[in-house]
Parts: sequence; structure tokens; C-alpha cells
Amino acid sequence: SSIWSNVEMGPPDAILGVSEAFKKDKSPNKMNLGVGAYRDDNGKPYVLPSVRKAEDIIRSKNLDKEYLGITGLAEFTKASAILAFGDNCDAIKNKRNVTAQGISGTGSLRIGANFLSKFYPGVKEVWLPKPSWGNHTPIFKHAGIEVKQYRYYDPSTCGFDAKGAYEDISKIPENSIILLHACAHNPTGVDPKPDQWKELSQIIKSRKLFPFFDMAYQGFASGNIDNDAAAVRMFVNEGHNIALAQSYAKNMGLYGERVGAFTLICESEEEAKRCESQLKIIIRPMYSNPPLSGPRIASTILNTAELRSQWLTEVKGMADRIITMRSQLVENLKKEGSSHNWQHITDQIGMFCFTGLKPDQVARITEEFSVYLTKDGRISVAGISSKNNAYLAHAIHTVSK
Ligand code: PMP
Repeated sequence: SSIWSNVEMGPPDAILGVSEAFKKDKSPNKMNLGVGAYRDDNGKPYVLPSVRKAEDIIRSKNLDKEYLGITGLAEFTKASAILAFGDNCDAIKNKRNVTAQGISGTGSLRIGANFLSKFYPGVKEVWLPKPSWGNHTPIFKHAGIEVKQYRYYDPSTCGFDAKGAYEDISKIPENSIILLHACAHNPTGVDPKPDQWKELSQIIKSRKLFPFFDMAYQGFASGNIDNDAAAVRMFVNEGHNIALAQSYAKNMGLYGERVGAFTLICESEEEAKRCESQLKIIIRPMYSNPPLSGPRIASTILNTAELRSQWLTEVKGMADRIITMRSQLVENLKKEGSSHNWQHITDQIGMFCFTGLKPDQVARITEEFSVYLTKDGRISVAGISSKNNAYLAHAIHTVSK
């Protein structure tokens, strides 16, 4: 037998598999609502004009391509921490943070997972909301951290299961790790309300849990970067020394550039320095040092007043288009004569909507209407346009009536 005869065929990726099936479909009406990437109202990928401008500025500077340091581009990581925690964050002002550039959100989560695996003194278990982004489980497992779940989504209301979440989190073993989606929860689009976040903060404090925030959609939920960071900032104000993974894939449309950051808020500047030294030791054998082009773009936008305000308008434009698609979809479902309550479509926010479609309905909508989505009934609202919104409503109504 050959060397790799023991290697079994693995299953295809759940989301990328949807895109492959979509590509093969010949229907002119086909819709890909599987992958989470923003599309403009013509269904085309969107490069933000502020990103194009930043690229022009960078090109005109004829910069060199020397290696970055292990923790990345300092102008970027500094601006990234301020974007997340705000201009008036004491922890940042007192240099209690260490922020390392990561390979987008995924890589930033992974740096954090590896750090926790090596140094976290409490219970090496991370509690994820049920459901959570599919990649969270292997990211933590591969780093050697056990994965558990707390109730989060209530299928009967397509909303937040506050009671279930409070109950479950109150029972998590003390000193465990809890993962929280900062905003625009993926895959459900369901976020806690501000008073519910307060309650979560209290419970998490009383259980002495370590909060690890995943913020992959800052600005994408409400259209406002400060609103979307409110939970993260409230936790830090309440005295939680959190971990945070940031991604610029969605809010700057820098998907393939892989721009992100990992931050630890520490007890003191001295502690932050020690943690930074160990983060470097973790990162060095993984990829030595992070890529340069993407963070240059992000840094140019964040650190140039004019470009920054242009970018904020563009983020809001993307969020608003998604919000409009949600309300149009509900309108169109009413026009179809659907008797179901679709209010969750507009209550949920961010890129994704958990429609409540059952697996057999998902199979049917793909088969009969060439509408592609994941089996859990999640659609990427960013994949809907004003041209195919009514078609989608007709398809959803047909399979759900
Ligand atoms: N976390 C969540 C919740 C996400 O939805 C995503 C994007 N799908 C990520 C992290 C990270 O994505 P990326 O590595 O492309 O930044």
C-alpha cells in the first residue's frame, strides 16, 4: 500500500459546498445565499471606494516590502484597538492592552485559542452559543481546548433565548471561558438587547468566566461602529479583562486580504508586556510574521481622517442595504399571501438571517427554485438584491405554506 492509503476522504466544507453546487446550476434565477460575502444591488462583489483610495495612496508612496514584526503593523494594531474599544477607553489609555495583528478573524481567534490553551489558569473549556459559527469548534479544539455550548437561540421565536442563556451560563463551571459574538451573531442574526448584555455581564462576572469576544461584523449590524462595539465596551467598563478577535473581512470588504487583530486586556501595562512576549513566541513558529498589504490598507483608512469618514459612510451603506432587503423580503412575503409571522427577519441583524426554514424546505427551495443556502435555514441577506427579492419571497412562500 502507498504512504497515504490510510487517509480517508473528508467531508466537504458545509458552506463552500453550497457555493460549488450553486456554480453548477444553470438556472438564470439562481441565488447563492450560502456564503457570507457582501454583494451590491447588482449581486456583484463590492470593493469599497475608500479601499481603492487607500490602495492608490499606498502605491504612490513606493513603500518597501520588508518583514513586519511578529505582532504586525503597529499603526494598524493601535488603530484597531481604538476602533474596538473607543477613544475614551481607560484600559487602552493605560496601555493595559496587547494587540497583535492576526490572519483575519479566524487567525486572530486561533492566536487567542493557542494562548489560552498554553496559559489560561482556569478550566480549559470554552462555552459557545448554540448555534455558533461553524469554525469556532475546530479552532478551539485544534488548540486543545474543550468545546461546550450554552443555550442562545430559541427556534420557537427565531429570537434570543434569554432565559435559557442565563440559566445555562449560571451553571458553567467557574473560571471557564465563554465565547460571545460582539454583534450580528452568525449564523442566527440574533443579538441580545443592551439590558440583556448587562445581565450577561453580571452572570459572567459572578461565575468568574473569561469572556472571549468575536467581533467579525463591527459596523455591519447597525451601520454604526460605536453601536456595534457597545457590548465589548460595556464589558471592559464593567471590569472584565476580555480577549477580542477582530476581522476586517466584512466591514472593509477585505476578505481575501486577511486583516484582523487579537487583543488581550490585562490587569496592568507590565502584565500586557509579558503577555505580548508570549504571544510572539506562539505566533513565530506558526507563520513567523503576518502579511503586510491588507493592514496597510486598513491602517491608511483608519488613520486618515477623510478616508475614515468616507469608510464609515460606506459601512453604513452596506448595513442599510441589508436592512432594506430584510424589510422588502417581509413585504414581499405578505404580498405572496404568507400567513406566517416573518417579523424575525427584520428583528435579526447583520449579514445573516435564520429564516426558520426546515431542512426539507431548504432542500425543496434549492431543488425547485435554485436558491442555495445552508441546511440550517440560514440565508446571507447580503446576497439578495432588489431585483430578486420578490423571487426569493415567492420561493420561500411556496415551500413554507
Ligand atoms: N467569526 C465569525 C462569527 C464569522 O462569521 C467570521 C466570518 N465568517 C469570522 C469570525 C472570521 O472570518 P475571517 O477569518 O474571514 O475574518
